[in-house]
Amino acid sequence: MNDIRGIVGDAACRSGADAARYFEDPRGSFTGRDCLVVLPETTAQVSQIVRLCNANGIAIIPYGGGTGVVAGQLSLDSNDAIILSLERMNRVRSVSPDDFVMVAEAGCVLENIHAEAERHDLMFPLSMASKGSCTIGGNLATNAGGIQVLRHGNARDLCLGIEAVMPSGEVLEELSPLRKNNTGYDLRHLLIGSEGTLGIITAASLMLKPRDPEAVTAFCAITSPADALRTLRALRRAIGNRMNGMELMSGFGVGLVCRHFPTLRKPFAGDHDWYLLIDTAGNRGLRDETEAALADCIEQGFVIDVVMAESEAQRDALWTLREHTPEANHRTGAFCSSDTAVPIGQIDAFVSRTHAAVTAVHQGLRTNSYGHIGDGNIHHNVFPPERTSKSDFLQAHPGIANRVREAINEATLSLGGSISAEHGIGRLKRNDLKKHASASKMTVLRQIKQAIDPNNIMNPGALLD
Ligand SMILES: Cc1cc2nc3c(=O)[nH]c(=O)nc-3n(C[C@H](O)[C@H](O)[C@H](O)COP(=O)(O)OP(=O)(O)OC[C@H]3O[C@@H](n4cnc5c(N)ncnc54)[C@H](O)[C@@H]3O)c2cc1C
Repeated sequence: MNDIRGIVGDAACRSGADAARYFEDPRGSFTGRDCLVVLPETTAQVSQIVRLCNANGIAIIPYGGGTGVVAGQLSLDSNDAIILSLERMNRVRSVSPDDFVMVAEAGCVLENIHAEAERHDLMFPLSMASKGSCTIGGNLATNAGGIQVLRHGNARDLCLGIEAVMPSGEVLEELSPLRKNNTGYDLRHLLIGSEGTLGIITAASLMLKPRDPEAVTAFCAITSPADALRTLRALRRAIGNRMNGMELMSGFGVGLVCRHFPTLRKPFAGDHDWYLLIDTAGNRGLRDETEAALADCIEQGFVIDVVMAESEAQRDALWTLREHTPEANHRTGAFCSSDTAVPIGQIDAFVSRTHAAVTAVHQGLRTNSYGHIGDGNIHHNVFPPERTSKSDFLQAHPGIANRVREAINEATLSLGGSISAEHGIGRLKRNDLKKHASASKMTVLRQIKQAIDPNNIMNPGALLD
């Protein structure tokens, strides 16, 4: 470990109480083991560290913003490891408006990338509630999704090239801004979504987009997820690919947000069972088109009522309700937070089947379902019965969190879905992957890992055991 300190200097190493935040999980569900945290500043330093670790069998856990929710960035399995934080590699290397490309280092915080793109009158459309802390390296390592996937795709769809340090210490320099480049296996896509198990992403070429002249936000009261699907269908027909995102929120969930954050206002005077938060963006006049399409939905009986944001401040206020949902779930005592996806047409069955599966595990459990309905990705957050604390409940019912997660997985798979939509596998879902993936898929995943990281130094215990 002294040799590693020699590469970056003592000031760029943390341990003990100084490093405590690197061992925490954003939901408070796991605590990592104490280990050395190293903060390199350049790709050359990362390469030197990796070479040293590979020669000495020291495991490396790459770390971005620490907002991952499947324990991929935590040292749960052994303290014979280092955490390699990319936070000091946070420079934007270049922006090329003609190419619509920004080259950014892995430790750039997502919100700072948004701001840099805006300085060039462009935008980077990947966005999520953790945008103030998560890093582009972590976003790519997890192939993050977020709130604009409907129109712009996942992190993978917004990355043109990658620079990465491979387990041997070699630097893969694939930062080309080309849109067309069919020259063998696409190593960029192998590294994206690999959760730090194949290499360390040190920089990326990101695809920028022109800014939309008009952005429209609407909050709708609806009766059921089935009506949400009808509304989605109608809007996609009317608005086409100018639909940025569509988020489903339950009346129960909006109530939790307003209870835990009393300064936030519910958009309607009365309460409703379900809500939709809708974003469209595009040409001038889109607001009128969106309003007309929603009026049509009201006429057809899919939508009960609509609030259209009249200003940027109102837009933010509506999105704040959605963005405070994860924290409200946490404060309410969520002990299981799922991230599964089904084909979009199965959303209604997904919600009802999951709720039934959860209460079959234990009568009295409460579920807040919310999320990216436009992508078929609904998060189900499960709480103990009313007036029972999370810790008392978990103590009285050992293993219940796993049983609930498995019940949700089974309900998802019965509808042709995936057990991980956008958060990845990490350490939390490693056994779920092993249980539900086909034998042939597991064989190929292991062969790839063995070929690229034969000494298993890259994030061992994440994704694969
Ligand atoms: C409030 C909240 C809201 C969220 N909303 C969303 C959402 O809408 N959509 C979504 O997809 N996710 C969401 N997440 C999950 C999380 O923010 C994303 O997974 C994010 O992409 C993680 O980025 P990070 O920089 O924090 O990565 P970390 O948590 O530090 O790491 C995540 C994984 O990536 C690996 N890793 C990190 N950096 C690198 C690198 N440079 N090279 C190689 N591997 C690396 C780590 O080893 C780990 O396995 C949310 C989380 C929170 C707390």
